[in-house]
Amino acid sequence: MTTDIPTPENAAAGARYARHARLSFIGQAGQEKIEKSSVLIIGCGSLGCAQAAFLARAGVGRLTLADRDTVQAPNMATQLLYDEIDLLERAPKAEAAVRRLRTINSGIAIEPVVADISAANIDPLVDKADLILDATDNFETRFLINEAAVKAGKPWIYGGVLGTDGMAMAILPGRGPCLRCLFALPPPESRLPPPDAFGVLSTAAVWVAALQTTQALKALACGGADWGRMHTLDIWNGTVTTAEVPRDPACPCCGDAK
Ligand SMILES: [Zn+2]
Repeated sequence: MTTDIPTPENAAAGARYARHARLSFIGQAGQEKIEKSSVLIIGCGSLGCAQAAFLARAGVGRLTLADRDTVQAPNMATQLLYDEIDLLERAPKAEAAVRRLRTINSGIAIEPVVADISAANIDPLVDKADLILDATDNFETRFLINEAAVKAGKPWIYGGVLGTDGMAMAILPGRGPCLRCLFALPPPESRLPPPDAFGVLSTAAVWVAALQTTQALKALACGGADWGRMHTLDIWNGTVTTAEVPRDPACPCCGDAK
């Protein structure tokens, strides 16, 4: 029997992850670390769908997906885990995503959390994760993630997409800047274009999610990522730039006075 056939036996033997394990910078040891990891994805929109699919296929041992919303028609163009049955049923996104992910990889633990993430419920979710992925669409929740991650000393990967543009940065408390070193206060809503009016290109979301997931896999498999490097991309024009973000000693979240 060829080892490339994805039977449950071969999955158990690790054959399904062989292409990642053969990468010299992941290797079998890195793959085993990935399989022992727990990742929290906050948001099941265009970013969260792509991140979750990549990580389930990579064999992350435990995935937790949090989102309060149900599947709506405008989601269908950019949110790759949902089908028309989910849309007809107005299914909670976290539950619909988990159903689909379980058909992709039945060998990992995947848990939905249908809830509005707030200061009241974020800490236990962050505490049981090795890493958090930002798939939100608002700075209020990103600041909550940042605060909880800094408090718990957990790495998290910031990301955002709008139109054909996006940004991503890996954050490790104590090893570089946090999000509030970059934005001391949330940008005023009046300066943020409304996503529904502005639109999102599906491929831009997948590119941002790919950057974020790559940073997550680097952190899980190798213990290192591009901490504090902001990647800014425009997929329509095919451009990517990177910039080092300095830690702010006066940061209200991770500063020296904290
Ligand atoms: Zn900071």
